[in-house]
Amino acid sequence: MWECALCRKIMRKNSGLHRTIRTKSGHYRVAGFCSQCAGRRDAEEMKKTAWTTGLLAVGLSLLTGVAAYSFMANW
Ligand SMILES: [Zn+2]
Repeated sequence: MWECALCRKIMRKNSGLHRTIRTKSGHYRVAGFCSQCAGRRDAEEMKKTAWTTGLLAVGLSLLTGVAAYSFMANW
């Protein structure tokens, strides 16, 4: 028997999912989640990844714009 690291729901053995989480002390450890919490975590991670990718794309296009602009200004 074990409990979910997020909602503390008591789980039967082998019925949970394992995810690497970051603890308050800054260390990474593997924690057991119930399927609901693991799903929610995965969705959050996906959102974060989408954000980072989006920001990178915006930053790159801005950089390209600035580079093109300075090129034009020096013309
Ligand atoms: Zn849970």
